[in-house]
Amino acid sequence: MLASCTSKNNNSMNASRGARQVAALWTSADGTQEELAQFIADNECKTDSERLALFESLSRILERMYESADLLTVELLKPTQLTNAAEPQTPDWIMSGYSPLAHFADDMFANKLAFVTILNFPHYTLEEKNTLGRNWTRQEWAYARMGDVFTTRVPAAVNTQMAQALANAENYIADYNIYMGNLRTEDDRQLWENDKILLSHWNLRDELKALYGAADGQEKQEMIYQVMQRIVDQSIPAQAINGKEYVWRPYSTQEHAEPYTRYARILEIAQAYFAEDAYCPTMPTGIIRNFEGGVEIPAAELDSLFRALVGSKQVQQVASVIRERLGRDLRPYDIWYDGFKARASMDEDALSATTRALYPDANAFAADMWRLLTKMGFYSEDARRIASHIVVEPARGSGHAWPCMGKNEPARLRTRIPASGMDYKGYNIAVHEFGHCVEQVLDLYMIDYYMLSGVPNTAYTEASAFLWQQRDLQLLPKSESSNLKSSMSKDEVYDQFWSMYEIMGVSLVDMAMWKWIYAHPKATPKELCEATMRIAKEIWNTYYEPVLGEHDCILLAVYSHMVNAPMYLPNYPLGHIVQYQLEEHLAQYKTPAEFAGEYMRIYRLGRLTPKEWMVQAVGEAPSIEPILRAVAAIENSHPQ
Ligand SMILES: [Zn+2]
Repeated sequence: MLASCTSKNNNSMNASRGARQVAALWTSADGTQEELAQFIADNECKTDSERLALFESLSRILERMYESADLLTVELLKPTQLTNAAEPQTPDWIMSGYSPLAHFADDMFANKLAFVTILNFPHYTLEEKNTLGRNWTRQEWAYARMGDVFTTRVPAAVNTQMAQALANAENYIADYNIYMGNLRTEDDRQLWENDKILLSHWNLRDELKALYGAADGQEKQEMIYQVMQRIVDQSIPAQAINGKEYVWRPYSTQEHAEPYTRYARILEIAQAYFAEDAYCPTMPTGIIRNFEGGVEIPAAELDSLFRALVGSKQVQQVASVIRERLGRDLRPYDIWYDGFKARASMDEDALSATTRALYPDANAFAADMWRLLTKMGFYSEDARRIASHIVVEPARGSGHAWPCMGKNEPARLRTRIPASGMDYKGYNIAVHEFGHCVEQVLDLYMIDYYMLSGVPNTAYTEASAFLWQQRDLQLLPKSESSNLKSSMSKDEVYDQFWSMYEIMGVSLVDMAMWKWIYAHPKATPKELCEATMRIAKEIWNTYYEPVLGEHDCILLAVYSHMVNAPMYLPNYPLGHIVQYQLEEHLAQYKTPAEFAGEYMRIYRLGRLTPKEWMVQAVGEAPSIEPILRAVAAIENSHPQ
């Protein structure tokens, strides 16, 4: 019998899907081939009810593991994250990097719980989930998600290599400051005051945005643009990075260029991906693990979605509005045009006075959550139930939402409230984080299967946060509107569209760069620099030069995420796409109660694939059509 089982296992045609996946991850340290066959014979469920009982037991164990680990992490991080905890000491900083689950997968393979899971709840590829999944019951979806828990068996040393590469990239990016007061024009003028220090690229970009409308704005914008290009092509003088003492002319200084460090950091991460590949039989490249495995939309699909928008005729339409408002021809850095924001029309001081009085501290915000939910349209009982699972805590940083991992812990809204109370900016962010928390409660506490808790990927929780944030003014107590704003203003649509145009180009460069790296695993930092510039130019010349001019511009490669967060950028435009589709869909629900009811239905779908979630939420897969239609409709309403 043993022999026949072994041959059955070796002959993958006859072995079950689970048995084949167990065999692919089984090593000699786990046992002989005979022991493998015996393990399979002993542990494969024979009936549906056996399988259901196993599923329920595994779900319970996973929920308790994830939740306990999270509760421990929350406790350990309190001194470094919250202001109402002990002052952080050296041990707190050390433990802030500790992960209770770092060895979880290792342990579960060692005690063979992982193999029991894989055997009975095998992994389905993304394509299978998107095709077979159309006819799956909720239980079958939950079973499939169980099959995603143990898919790789990366040794601790390789995990450490990846963590180290990411930390090196993070440190490189976190300490890349430009001393703006040390920059000189060609005729030796200093444009910024001495103490202006900007972190690349976020601060540089935000400074550039803030300069729209300033009297000497354009000369400074051109200078920032010049610095950015020299960061991308690495001709920036090494002493200019954190160069407190180093005065230079970005247009002409040509000495001691940075030695391709930017690209060396990216290649270190690539080496860590290559090391992981051998241990990930169902997802054998970093690109597949990131997109099919993480985002759950294949890179090629995102690529064509993004190209369809950046190549649409609506780009020229919005560009001409910008050209008219600026009163000049567009420049490459106008991808960051900031003039569609409604800031100017708001009396922020008056709003801050209101929010300060309303929210002197975190408890005041917590006490007001039920009201915020009912104002959004939730029934009193639902609002009470949701609010009971959210706590508000005073954060040291700017605020964030900390998700709940099991039904014994609350979602945590962390917000920073100064002694003078919460100002409008703080309120706006708090409402965003509240939107995350409401989503987290709906799809954990109010969902049918723990294995389906959560959302398809980060873009989908951001969409919920933005839905709330967009309505922050209407949620204030004195706001008269009985109807929540259900559609965006023209400028909001333009703003959303132009942000998508910018971030999609950046994402296309990021994705193409990783494709090139996998095709050239032995590339040097210099070669990667040249390839990245080639890619950035190609995308620029195709989709941006016709609108913004300048042949062979490399600006799209300046994002720091390209270095410290591999392949993360495409999440941003995906978030915009999802948000816009949801806004358009929810606009059909006219009363607050209808709106909240539909929002609740959607955010209780849980962790389906992004495509299936969207189909069940709004009736179609992630699509750029709604925003394209909205932009075109603005033009049609204003014939020229
Ligand atoms: Zn967010």
